[in-house]
Amino acid sequence: MSDHNPECLFCKILAGEIPADIIYESDSAIAFRDINPQAPTHALVIPRKHIATINDIDVADQAIVGSLFSAAREIAAAEGLEDDGYRAVMNCNEAAGQTVFHIHLHLLGGRALAWPPG
Ligand code: 5GP
Ligand code: ZN
Repeated sequence: MSDHNPECLFCKILAGEIPADIIYESDSAIAFRDINPQAPTHALVIPRKHIATINDIDVADQAIVGSLFSAAREIAAAEGLEDDGYRAVMNCNEAAGQTVFHIHLHLLGGRALAWPPG
């Protein structure tokens, strides 16, 4: 796929080159459990298309980005988080703490989450 970036960790997970605990798959997105979970549920929802940061989201990517939230909602329901609540958040660039440059929605739940985040 032309959107594949061979240097990208999450593209490698998408290609099956690096193992991950995949819990959701659709035509446009997949989700897997974070390797260093910050809550009882901590999943990363990523598009199949390599998009480095929020700044790189094109108007044509709106359906793809929307599908990340649909995935998050479905996973939250499957994990029993719907009523208590959960957080879906995406970091952009260094000041926000982005470390993997393939956009990903963090889905966090299963405990009380402080606001504002650090
Ligand atoms: P960021 O800081 O970019 O918003 O989030 C990157 C996330 O990816 C971190 O929460 C980190 O624990 C997770 N992560 C980094 N490398 C791997 C990996 O190889 N596998 C999985 N499942 N998660 C990873
Ligand atoms: Zn990528």
